[in-house]
Amino acid sequence: MKKRWPAKTIAAYIGLLGAALTIALIAGWTSLAARIDNYAYDFFFNLYPPAPEQPQSAVLAVDEETLASMGGVRHIRTILAKGLERIAPVHPRAVAIDFILADRSDPEEDGHLARALSGMRNVVLSCELVPGGWEDPIPAFRTTAAALGHVHAEKNPLDGISRLVPLEKSAGAIRRWALSLEAFRLARNSSILESPDDLQVGDTVLPAPHSADERPLRIRYQRAGSPTWSIWQLVSHPELAANFRDKTVFIGYTALSYVRDRLFNPYGDAVQGVVIHAQAFETMQHRQFLVPASEVTVLGFCILLAVAAGLNFGFLSGWPPYLIAGALLACAHALPAVFFQNGIVFPYFISISTSWLPISTAAAFQYFVVRRALRRSESDKARYQQAIHFVTHEMRTPLTAIQGSSEMMGRYNLTDEKRKQMASMINSESKRLAGMIQTFLDVERLTDGQIDLKREAFPVRHMLQACLDRVRPIAERKQIVIDERDIAEATVTGDRELMEYAFYNLLTNAVKYSPAGRQVLVDAVLEHGSLRLSVKDQGIGIDARELNNIFRKFYRTKRAEASGEVGTGIGLSIVEQIVIHHGGRMEVASAPGQGSTFTIVVPAEALKVSICHDCS
Ligand code: ADP
Repeated sequence: MKKRWPAKTIAAYIGLLGAALTIALIAGWTSLAARIDNYAYDFFFNLYPPAPEQPQSAVLAVDEETLASMGGVRHIRTILAKGLERIAPVHPRAVAIDFILADRSDPEEDGHLARALSGMRNVVLSCELVPGGWEDPIPAFRTTAAALGHVHAEKNPLDGISRLVPLEKSAGAIRRWALSLEAFRLARNSSILESPDDLQVGDTVLPAPHSADERPLRIRYQRAGSPTWSIWQLVSHPELAANFRDKTVFIGYTALSYVRDRLFNPYGDAVQGVVIHAQAFETMQHRQFLVPASEVTVLGFCILLAVAAGLNFGFLSGWPPYLIAGALLACAHALPAVFFQNGIVFPYFISISTSWLPISTAAAFQYFVVRRALRRSESDKARYQQAIHFVTHEMRTPLTAIQGSSEMMGRYNLTDEKRKQMASMINSESKRLAGMIQTFLDVERLTDGQIDLKREAFPVRHMLQACLDRVRPIAERKQIVIDERDIAEATVTGDRELMEYAFYNLLTNAVKYSPAGRQVLVDAVLEHGSLRLSVKDQGIGIDARELNNIFRKFYRTKRAEASGEVGTGIGLSIVEQIVIHHGGRMEVASAPGQGSTFTIVVPAEALKVSICHDCS
């Protein structure tokens, strides 16, 4: 643990961390973040593919060979009819047909297909959203269908990869479920129950919350895909029809020249619409859902990371916080993978940005605060040395006097009177020396909190008077008049000697830093349980930039140095400590050339009459 930071530094630290977190979160909404999230999604998709399951769907494909061998796309309806006739005897659970049968063609071919369709159970026909609304199959086919399902397999606009299927789409008041969902429902002979958060088919709950009329469901592609046979294979080898028994069959183009959109799955394989529908069906069938992490979870995690980074660098110093920061970063990088393994998609970019940004902000802040503290302690050290220099220099004067006098007393035959004079000088000079040493020691002990305050009530007027009596002779030498204004009758509880020391210090400073012939005003006002004891001078004043520093140990303003007044820069630091120890505070108002007002504000009480008698 390290030394605590001051409140202002803590506030700045919290503010900066908050800003870093906000920027990291905002960055998470950019398209760059979306791309990185997609890359990460596909990476995890490859790393943690779904457990292989027995496919419950089969694809009946119209491939190049089927078209070439069965008359081409002009006879697609006959081709479809023949495919359906082959699988009808094995009774598939449901048949989803990924062809838009929205116009009439040759009546004979249409009739053939309509007959084939009506021989099947649970047929889902395709519909598509076009500018005017839904493009549905013509009535001849539609009447044979148990349901209509839309065929929109959304590809990601940024990279063309198909990761999800919108389970619902609406045109005006007409809403259609996805082809795969209708096939799933029919295969289970069930209905679809809706709630804002999910859809329920039988006992399967599909986690597809209602968002912008889409209800996106992430497709968990099986690496092996659904078993696929072409219609031509089926026509040439009728025994293959057995593979469609009890399956949900998806029929559509796989011939590249007839696939409208080139789509890819997260493994990077090209997939056709019919394959996507079959895979969406398998995802529902095996309940291999991937759900996005809720916004509350994401935000909570990001805030937690930023708080951890803040506490780490705020409370620890040296290398441990860097080790912990490394561990936090590792967690942030690994967490999306752990979530993914558990079926939750956590946005990768945000977990990276909200870990790196707050952690590096906290680390940089700590670094600069430590550096500043180092610089400050170095300059304090320099000042301290200066002060020692000054004090030792000051001590030399009384020491020289003591030395000289004692030598003379030993060496020469002095008159009694002279001897008395010298003895008294030795005495007063050694007292001065002792006083200096005492002051110096007091500073250290006060700042270290080693001095125990006496706690007794003393009248302010009495204390004030004693100080004024001591300072007036010094002031007179500079023709400075000290005036008293309102002196409240009040008592302060604490250490009278220390308070006297503090107030005397303010008075001597006022005299010291005022040109000759000026005036010093003293007043003591009691308001709201506080005594405001102020000393106002007409002296050299203090620069606004330096005001914050004058209570620091050994600090002397440039103006004071220029004025030629020598001082230690210790006095005010002791004054402030004393006032703080009395539960009070210091206030200073000053402007260069216009004088200064130093005010001691301490808790006080109005003086009781009986005590007043004692003190007067
Ligand atoms: P010292 O007077 O011994 O240098 P202090 O701690 O009492 O030490 O004061 C610190 C500094 O604050 C002084 O050096 C001086 O620069 C400034 N200062 C204090 N009192 C006054 C005042 N009344 N007017 C102008 N400057 C002052």
